[in-house]
Amino acid sequence: MAKLTFLGAAGSVTGSKYLVEANSKRLMVDCGLFQGTQELKQRNWAPMPEAASVNWLVLTHAHLDHTGWIPRFIKQGFKGPIFSNAATRELCGILLPDSGYLQEEDANHAQKKGYSSHKPALPLYTEAEAQECLARFVDNSRTDWFSISPEFSIRQHDAGHILGSASLEMAITEGGKKTVVLFSGDIGRYGGPILNSPAPPVAADVLLCETTYGDRDHPSDSPYDEMAEVVNRVVKRGGVIVIPAFAVDRTQLIMYVLHMLAAAGRIPSLPIYVDSPMAINVTDFYLKHREENSAEYAKEALTEDPLAVHTVHMTRTSTESKAINDVKTPCIIISASGMATGGRVLHHLVQRLPDAKNAVLLCGFQAEGTGGRALEDGVKTFHVMGQSVPVLAEIVDMKQFSAHAGQSELVRWISGFAVPPRQTYLVHGEPVAALAFQKILNARPGWKADVAQYRQTVDLSA
Ligand SMILES: [Zn+2]
Repeated sequence: MAKLTFLGAAGSVTGSKYLVEANSKRLMVDCGLFQGTQELKQRNWAPMPEAASVNWLVLTHAHLDHTGWIPRFIKQGFKGPIFSNAATRELCGILLPDSGYLQEEDANHAQKKGYSSHKPALPLYTEAEAQECLARFVDNSRTDWFSISPEFSIRQHDAGHILGSASLEMAITEGGKKTVVLFSGDIGRYGGPILNSPAPPVAADVLLCETTYGDRDHPSDSPYDEMAEVVNRVVKRGGVIVIPAFAVDRTQLIMYVLHMLAAAGRIPSLPIYVDSPMAINVTDFYLKHREENSAEYAKEALTEDPLAVHTVHMTRTSTESKAINDVKTPCIIISASGMATGGRVLHHLVQRLPDAKNAVLLCGFQAEGTGGRALEDGVKTFHVMGQSVPVLAEIVDMKQFSAHAGQSELVRWISGFAVPPRQTYLVHGEPVAALAFQKILNARPGWKADVAQYRQTVDLSA
């Protein structure tokens, strides 16, 4: 009997891990970090006795909440290969070592300031350990069936979320019976400027559907209009704009939008700093993987430098990064991490939050317990790296820039099923979002959707 266990992203947005078993073979889909609240993060430290018996790992995309536990998984005894497409492998080559570096940095910082729950403060894994896992990656096709074993075959479909992101169609064969499970992965946006839109779902017996925004839609006003308005407003009062942005996708999208606005004369030309070595490296992959690009971007890319990499200040070194502190005239600082959980953006926030002339633009999902969520919720004091910083800067929530489908885009995606899956499990959403989406699905004829529970095991062949 083929079965599946939800080892993460069940009742939460982060920590994606789904263990599929058939014929005593074990395949893990995604291996993400839990991020956000202390309670969630604590799960990253829990041992996983199953790890040594898992044969293979396959990835939907490179985001850390889908891949960031890999070094720990290997430390727990996983010995098999890791399958992904080339773009995802390349992005992991940047994201995982960086995650290890940040784990070490946080541990060192916590040790110095004495706020760690571990004594002495420990990293979950090191940069070197993360680097070692990269040798386990094996490329599979972006479009064709890939046979892992007699039990498991997989095929990827564009998810439109970040470079390389895929929904995974998995054919499981056991005792002569075939079951198709579709893992939505993270569904992206329709008609985004850089990436292809999500592909319609394929027929499946069982569906795991993400529900990050299952309870709400993004604002429908144009991201170009709002960005132009904010930039002009802040420049007029002589302020600086700080944009905490994910190094992957958000940074490139914001670069693209700012470039298009400046080219159209809708914003003044002002210094833009991309202050994240990782985002700079990722930008190269965005310029390279043309197969992922939407028609609009492809057209722009033919005539110009579509991300304006030649005019933006790409600051790699920490000396260059610190020098941005001396810039007192209007400028835009794009820096990671996107939920203000770590990275150089924390230093820019400490620097710029106490001045009402400035603005902070939040451009994506802010998970519970993160610095970004605190700013979104309107805290008056921002607690970071053991410091308390007054929040006087304007906080602008720009959900149009989300990389995740909003509720109606999720509905659009699931409307692509000619026949509803026999069973749907809702994952990758905070409970209120998953429950709201469950209501929508179960109101549709033929749908049977349940909210997945953490560590729950379900029978796939029933
Ligand atoms: Zn993602």
